[in-house]
Amino acid sequence: LTSVRYPHVQRGKYATLTEKDVDFFQKLLPQRVLQDPSELDGYNIDWMRTVRGNSQMVLRPKTTSEVAEILKYCNERHLAVVPQGGNTGLVGGSVPVFDEIVISTQLMNQIISLDEVSGIVVCQSGCILETLDNYLAERELMMPLDLGAKGSCHIGGNVSTNAGGLRLLRYGSLHGSVLGVEAVLASGEIVDCLSSLRKDNTGYDLKQLFIGSEGTLGMVTSVSILCPRRPKAVNVAFLGVENFEAALQTFQLCKGMLAEILSACEFMDQESMQCIQENLKLTNPIKSYPLYILIETSGSHGSHDEEKLNAFLEAAMGKGIVQDGTIAMDVTQRQNIWGLRERIAEGLLHDGYNYKYDISLPLPKLYEIVEDMRQRLGSKVTRVVSYGHLGDGNLHFNVTTPEYNKEVLGLIEPYIYEWTSQVRGSVSAEHGLGFKKRDCIRYSKEPNAVKMMVKMKKLFDPNGILNPYKTIPL
Ligand code: FAD
Repeated sequence: LTSVRYPHVQRGKYATLTEKDVDFFQKLLPQRVLQDPSELDGYNIDWMRTVRGNSQMVLRPKTTSEVAEILKYCNERHLAVVPQGGNTGLVGGSVPVFDEIVISTQLMNQIISLDEVSGIVVCQSGCILETLDNYLAERELMMPLDLGAKGSCHIGGNVSTNAGGLRLLRYGSLHGSVLGVEAVLASGEIVDCLSSLRKDNTGYDLKQLFIGSEGTLGMVTSVSILCPRRPKAVNVAFLGVENFEAALQTFQLCKGMLAEILSACEFMDQESMQCIQENLKLTNPIKSYPLYILIETSGSHGSHDEEKLNAFLEAAMGKGIVQDGTIAMDVTQRQNIWGLRERIAEGLLHDGYNYKYDISLPLPKLYEIVEDMRQRLGSKVTRVVSYGHLGDGNLHFNVTTPEYNKEVLGLIEPYIYEWTSQVRGSVSAEHGLGFKKRDCIRYSKEPNAVKMMVKMKKLFDPNGILNPYKTIPL
């Protein structure tokens, strides 16, 4: 079978579901096997609505041992599966390509323990990021990551994609804050690396392999995460600058002057602003500028932080780096400013088709590619929009057209990947490779590194049942 939508992909030699299989799963998970076509759509289509699979079955386990039973059975029967969390992934990794069975973590949503002294939370992989954060907020703690999809994404999905998000600048990546992972291998074996220790150098750090492996090495069932104290004072400023050089100067100045209280430094361009103004009717709180910077501070002493932020703004404006700006006066204003940045991805979908790229580049090069692309694409597209995590050198580059356009895609790819590779950037900074980008891995990884990944995949999942057609190139 070759998929009509993806003529370049062949269905692997997997079994197809029989009545006996259905019986087995219904006995194992009473009332938790979905087969009604009307219920399956949400699991078959990705958030961007650009990838669609044809799964006939969604399984909703509640426990690790149920996941182990499912995988053991699927492995013996050669049935392919897709682990799915909140289905907010942006690279088509979370939905089937053909008829893979979806294993959803929706019902694996228990918080197992919290040590309020160390700030270590242990929970099942299907906990929604925002729910976890709200639970921690009541105990003066917070999740070390935050992203626009927080209301839907699951912590297991976050760990499996090694999600970065809005505060990586301050709290680091999940490779640092995840202390333990429990995962089930394709064979059904449970790998319990659910340590809650900050220090543990006994042998290889196996949990790291599951962080960012996008469900190709095992299904993450529980995680243990180190959570920081919730800051007592949070301030957000939204600034306008004339060009990217000024944006870089702003970042450098705020790193120096805000130092330990800086918790986010994001940017968006005027085209992003126009997109959310036109498509989502959001309001720009300042005048129009070519680029905007969002700065957040988080600290333990409100007046001290405000003093620092005001001194920084005075210096930035005094030097002529920042032209204009506003500081949120209350929680609502803070949320409104964050909304401008967080809702660009949603705004872009209203244009029709969205070509989405998530690249890491050396900071001085970060905006060059955008200007280059704008010239290259000219009036063939609706917009060229860029925004991202300035503090992490991570650009979210987007192009939109009313509908899918092959010529436009041909102008963007492989040009953007070659461009990124030449400056030793990464073709996926934080979204992963999934289905859409798996063959682009060679732009960022050496052939020997890819060979090692293929070997690891074979070791963990000899029959290739776990999330086939994803991450590992053909
Ligand atoms: P899914 O989309 O369900 O799955 C993602 C991948 O992980 C798939 O390959 C899936 O098979 C695998 N997977 C899921 N659960 C498991 C599990 N338990 N075990 C093994 N594999 C599993 N990402 C960022 O990094 N930073 C951002 O700032 C950011 N902002 C976003 C904003 C918006 C509006 C949206 C829609 C997405 C954004 N994303 C961002 C992308 C996405 O939200 C993240 O990749 C998120 O971590 C995915 O979590 P999920 O639960 O939705 O996973």
